[in-house]
Amino acid sequence: TKIFPKYDPVKYKTPTGTKLSCKGWIQEAALRMLLNNLDPEVAERPDELIVYGGRGKAARNFEALDKIIAALKILENDESLLIQSGKPVGILKTHKDAPRVLISNSQLVPHWATWETFDALEKKGLMMYGQMTAGSWIYIGSQGIVQGTYETYAAAANKHFNGSLKSTLNVTAGLGGMGGAQPLAITMNEGVALVAEVEEWRIDKRLETGYLDEKIKDIDEAIDRALKAKQKGEALSIGVLCNAVHLLKRLVERNIIPDTLTDQTSAHDPLIGYWPHEISYEQAKVLREENPQQYIEYAYNSMRRHVELMLRLQSRGAVTFDYGNNIRARAKERGLQNAFDFPGFVPAYIRPLFCEGKGPFRWAALSGDPEDIAATDEVIAKMFPQNESLQRWLKLAKEKISFQGLPARICWLGQGEREKAGLAFNELVRTGKVKAPIVIGRDHLDTGSVASPNRETESMLDGSDAIADWPILNALVNTAGGASWVSLHHGGGVGMGYSIHAGMVIVADGTQDAEERLKRVLRNDPGLGVIRHADAGYETAITTAEKHQLEIDTKLK
Ligand code: NAD
Repeated sequence: TKIFPKYDPVKYKTPTGTKLSCKGWIQEAALRMLLNNLDPEVAERPDELIVYGGRGKAARNFEALDKIIAALKILENDESLLIQSGKPVGILKTHKDAPRVLISNSQLVPHWATWETFDALEKKGLMMYGQMTAGSWIYIGSQGIVQGTYETYAAAANKHFNGSLKSTLNVTAGLGGMGGAQPLAITMNEGVALVAEVEEWRIDKRLETGYLDEKIKDIDEAIDRALKAKQKGEALSIGVLCNAVHLLKRLVERNIIPDTLTDQTSAHDPLIGYWPHEISYEQAKVLREENPQQYIEYAYNSMRRHVELMLRLQSRGAVTFDYGNNIRARAKERGLQNAFDFPGFVPAYIRPLFCEGKGPFRWAALSGDPEDIAATDEVIAKMFPQNESLQRWLKLAKEKISFQGLPARICWLGQGEREKAGLAFNELVRTGKVKAPIVIGRDHLDTGSVASPNRETESMLDGSDAIADWPILNALVNTAGGASWVSLHHGGGVGMGYSIHAGMVIVADGTQDAEERLKRVLRNDPGLGVIRHADAGYETAITTAEKHQLEIDTKLK
């Protein structure tokens, strides 16, 4: 086994408060968000610098982390720090409105864009996997995904169960950084969640943070408990300590049909993200180190079996969807021809939101004070009184979400709304109603920032699923507009060769300069998504583009 240098909680503690250790608030924000990503309350495995999503890292190694920290501290307000796959490689002269940090993670020339090539380069210390918000320093813990998951289940409830998951059994797997949001999202929709998870510490982490209600080690006992709760119409979530394949097999044997069925194991990464079912957890841990090739063989067998069982339950009536981990492609790679017979969650539930420029807008209070988030919550609630689902979300979030690391909030906002919110936050900072600047960002899983044919761009109306010009344009326009840091990644969500995507973060520090930058970036960033969907022919996107004057033909008139 490898000896990793340990994460040092004192050395890497996220600074809070109003005192700067960098030469400006933007650099300071980057420093705090980088360290926040690695805070043990936030990150899944800080000793390995892994934030979430299989092996999604914030920095390549501890040496690179120390150098990034040092570089951010000396970085001037007219310079930009360059990060190449988690390692700082240069500081170049730019100008005050340019991003302070430019990041490129996990990029490979398309012909070589495989896990095999990546693994070899990673082993040599030349690359790291950035996932989405891990390598772009805007992960905020499981909350970052919980609203999206909540909206997905709400959409499923509307489509199939008269608007609520009350008295439904919802089966899934994976209680990692993102998957851990599933049980809470399901109970927020009043349903019963039964979630398979191989690692006990993950179940415990979700119990501790209030994302999960109960842990049960025996499969039958867990199924019985879930069925009882379903019968009583109780909202309850259960983590069952087992392999997903074993849980689904048992459901098939007992002919119990889940109302919804999905999966959020890290199937995108067969080596680091998925536990095979034919060997024990202990054996798998050893095999992964000693014979990765054989481990991958086992993992592929299991993923094929896993999807077969999902298809079986689907054929018996379970509403089944892929939850963005590329498990269908893995099963197909292993010869399962009909692996794509159930849809991905984006075409099934999320695409209409993307057409309005809606996506996972998020922010964090750099002061570290939860009252600052309370102030922003109030602003948002007042700003969008007519948006019922947003109002419901804010209320639930306040009640049920415990902060991990820096206090943060997420809510899906659309074209026009993000800009309005950003400017209002800048005003809160300017007038001293919050104690320190607010950092605003988003997931890469957004309307215009990702090309991922098995996920965000699955089944595009015009067949443009695999076209990756859009995320590149997204990163370019956010750089031109003056985002605080911009990142371009490969392989997030679904693994090497399957996606290209861009991230954006912008700091509201209360200055006039920030106001100008916020106006540009928070209009252009979702705007590109609206343009992308309008270009593909989606009616809602065309109307949204017209309404917000994003449409090229109008400009040319
Ligand atoms: P993670 O690596 O932190 O957690 C994955 C979890 O799955 C781990 O706890 C692991 O023990 C468990 N697991 C693996 N194989 C298993 C098996 N066979 N049976 C039961 N449990 C098993 O990853 P994460 O951050 O939770 O992300 C999960 C997946 O979801 C990734 O593929 C990620 O790319 C994808 N993802 C989806 C969305 C979305 O919006 N749908 C967003 C982000 C990430």
